[in-house]
This record gives sequence, structure tokens and C-alpha cells, in this order.
Amino acid sequence: MPATPPIRVLVWSEFRHEKINPKVSAIYPDGIHEAIAAFLREDSGLMVETAFLDQARHGLESARLDATDVLIWWGHMAHGEVSDDVVAEVKRRVLEGMGLIVLHSAHYSKIFKALMGTTCSLQWRESTDKERVWNIAPHHPITRGIGHCFEIPQEEMYGEPFAIPTPDELIFISWYTGGEVFRSGATWQRGHGRVFYFKPGHETYPTYHQPEVQRVITNAVHWARATVCIPDRCENIAPLEPLPPDPEADGRSTHAYV
Ligand code: ZN
Repeated sequence: MPATPPIRVLVWSEFRHEKINPKVSAIYPDGIHEAIAAFLREDSGLMVETAFLDQARHGLESARLDATDVLIWWGHMAHGEVSDDVVAEVKRRVLEGMGLIVLHSAHYSKIFKALMGTTCSLQWRESTDKERVWNIAPHHPITRGIGHCFEIPQEEMYGEPFAIPTPDELIFISWYTGGEVFRSGATWQRGHGRVFYFKPGHETYPTYHQPEVQRVITNAVHWARATVCIPDRCENIAPLEPLPPDPEADGRSTHAYV
């Protein structure tokens, strides 16, 4: 039996907070994208690369996206600086079959809003909340190895209402010390691609160093991997069987899709 090819993963982040906030660079000296890539590289089934906002075309050239099975997206302070052209290409790739994992404040990224079709707004608070993440889909591949719940000692609070379309699958619900709850893990099918949103990951906390969070993201990469690449087509096609003659037809189509 031929060996399964590795999953080609591209981890993208803004890489801005780390350059201006010493608190963030102390936790993620090489950037959030490199911290995520580091634990993913421990999985021999993954081939992991990174990219960030200030690279040419944000490090997301067409050929690179075409060679990506799963894209991971972390953004926060510079959503507006992401080029609309790049967003359109990422969206095209998701619709063709590429997996997309959207982390933390990337709920407000252009690409997530484009794929959801809603505002994706929420309530938030940066304080001293603990986050308890409840696993409400213990059958799901994304929660493999995760028990009933796990706690993140300190995290930013994200609360409902979260303006997303009803998820295909709800994976996690979080509770915070302040009393709020939030749909913190959810999936959607978009075209031929799978999308997973996972809330934890505020930049001033060491959330991406926590084993449970790493486990969820690694599981999600395997779940979201592209299995097809089906470019969009909208063709005028000939019938498979001979059709009876149409006495009204003049031989010309009145429709043209471009
Ligand atoms: Zn945050």
C-alpha cells in the first residue's frame, strides 16, 4: 500500500504584536506562527511552513496556496492590511478543497467574514478570566485525546452573541470566570473545503504552549486536510442521452455564464 503523503500545512500570522510588545515577544520570541509550527513539526505526518503579513503578498503567493492542504490563520491588529486579492485567492482555495483553521481574533479577519457571510462580531474582555473549554463532541476527530474539559489559567474572554452562521458542528463551548459562555470551537463546510474556528490564543498569554490547545490544533489539521482540488466550473453541457426534438428551439442558447 502506498504511504500517505504528508499534509502540507502553512501557518500564517500577522507577526506584529511580537515586534512592539515585549510581553508578547517574551512568550513567542519567533512569532506566534513559529510557535504553532514548532509543535506541528513534532507530527511526522505534517510538512509545515510559515508565512506572515509583511512578506511580499503576505507570503501567500498563488503557487504556495495551490501547494497547501491546510492553512492556519492568526490575525488581530491588522485585518484591514490584508490585500483583497489575497483574500479572494484564499477563498477560492477553500472552495476548491483546502482546509482552513481560524484562530482566536481571526474571527474578524477578512477571509473568515467572507466565508461566513456574517459580521462575526462578539463580546470581549481582557482581564483575569480563567477559560474552561468544554468538549461537547467527544466523538469528533478534533477532540481526540481531549477529556470532558480543560482549563486555560488566563485568557481573554470572548462572549455570546457570536455573529456566525449556525455551525455544521459545534465542538467546544467555553465558560469564563466572569460568567459568560462562548461557542469556542465550530466547523463549517464551504464548497469542497473544511473550516474550523478555535477561540483560544490571545497574544499576551502562553496559550499555544499548552498541550491541550496544541492537541486540538494538530487534530484539526488532520481533520481539515484537503482531499480534493475541484476548481469552480459552470459549464453548458451536452445531454448524456439523445433528447426529443424541441420544436421551439432555434439552435441558439439564450444563456451565457461567464
Ligand atoms: Zn485577543
